[in-house]
Amino acid sequence: MRHGTIPGASGRVRPLTLLGDPVLETPCAEVTDFGPELAALVEDMFATMYAARGVGLAANQVGVGLRVFVYDCPDDEDTRHLGHVVNPRVVELDGVTVRGPEGCLSLPGLEAATPRFDHAVVEGVTVSGEAVRVHGTGFFARCLQHECDHLAGGVYVDRVAGWRRRRLLRQVARAPWS
Ligand SMILES: [Zn+2]
Repeated sequence: MRHGTIPGASGRVRPLTLLGDPVLETPCAEVTDFGPELAALVEDMFATMYAARGVGLAANQVGVGLRVFVYDCPDDEDTRHLGHVVNPRVVELDGVTVRGPEGCLSLPGLEAATPRFDHAVVEGVTVSGEAVRVHGTGFFARCLQHECDHLAGGVYVDRVAGWRRRRLLRQVARAPWS
């Protein structure tokens, strides 16, 4: 992403991986090559996220097992957060736990009330290797936790319990894409 350009404008929409694809269940690898392929991946991830009307996307959701995510997500005060993180680490996770509606582009059409911390801080680097620190509250904190879960090989279903989980798994089994 170059300064002054719209993220994703030069990107290509890639096919989304869906729940059940092994790449979603495998922890992603650290990025070590900060060349043009990484910049192209991030551009493509923005294009794919916008095409699917998502607010966040992890690289394994386009079939690439690398620790990268992108986001364009509001918080509870409607402040927009836009960016990407390479090799993210969750460095703070606290505040109250809030159960709120959560969906995922890899489980299209479904959502479930999922508990998440209200405050999260993620550190990592950009495609050019500069350090970034991303601070999230409310819905944006939820997004940061959701994307970091993907990179660890998890999905939000793992965090849903009880009858909500049973209902979600029934919906997954009935979904046209599963
Ligand atoms: Zn997701």
